[in-house]
Amino acid sequence: MTTLFISDLHLEADSPQIAEQFIALLESEARDADALYILGDLFESWIGDDDPNEHYALIRQALRKLVDQDVPVYFMHGNRDFMIGEDFASETGVRILPDPYVLEIHGTRVLLSHGDAYCTDDVEYQEVRKMTRDPQWQAMMLTKPVQERLEFAARAREASLAHGDAVNEDITDVNGEAIEQALREADVGIMLHGHTHRPHVHSLTVDGRDCTRIVLGDWFERGSVVRWDEDGPVLSPIQRREWQV
Ligand code: MN
Repeated sequence: MTTLFISDLHLEADSPQIAEQFIALLESEARDADALYILGDLFESWIGDDDPNEHYALIRQALRKLVDQDVPVYFMHGNRDFMIGEDFASETGVRILPDPYVLEIHGTRVLLSHGDAYCTDDVEYQEVRKMTRDPQWQAMMLTKPVQERLEFAARAREASLAHGDAVNEDITDVNGEAIEQALREADVGIMLHGHTHRPHVHSLTVDGRDCTRIVLGDWFERGSVVRWDEDGPVLSPIQRREWQV
C-alpha cells in the first residue's frame, strides 16, 4: 500500500485548475492510499477558519469525503496557511501535525516538515515567521473582522513576492547546516519537505551517515507527489491529465 505526500498547492479562487487537479487526486489515487500527508501551503492564504470563501468550502468537502472513506489525511502548516485551526480540522476530519514531525513508514523513520524553518539564511523572513507563528499574535489577528484580515493577507502576500524578487535565490533555499542539525536531532536518515518549490532528491552525509532529503514541488504548472510504498519513496511530477478521468 502507498502513502502519498504533497505540498505547496497554493489553492486560491483564481486558480481553479489546481483545485480541480487536487480534487481529482482525492477522488482517485488517494482513495486507495494508506494515508495522505499535506506538508503545508495547501492554500495560498488562510485568514482563519471563518473565511466564508466558497472555493475553500469545496476543498473542505472534498477532504471530508476522503476521510469518510477511511483514508487518514494529515496536514502540517505552511507559511501561507499557518492559520488553519481546529474548526477546519473538525469539519474536514484532517489531523494537524506539528512541524517537524517524525513518521515511521514501512520501518523507516522520516522527518516531515514544511521546510521554511530551515531557510535560516533569510533572516528577514525568519523574523516574520517568528511573529506570525506566535499563538498570541494569531489570537490577536483572529479578533479582527474578516475583511480586515483579507486586506492584511493581500498586503503580506505582496510584501512576500517583493521580498522573493529582491533577495538572491540562494537566500530563499534551505541552509545546509540547518538541515544537518534537523537530521541529527531527529536521528533520522531521511527527510521530506516542500516550501522551496525546488523538487529534487538530495544525497548528503551527516556524521558519517548517508542521508536523503526529498523536496516536493509546487502545483502551479503541474502536480508533485511522493509515493511511498514498501520499496521506498518515489518523487514524481504529475501531469494534469493523469487524474482527469
Ligand atoms: Mn511555503
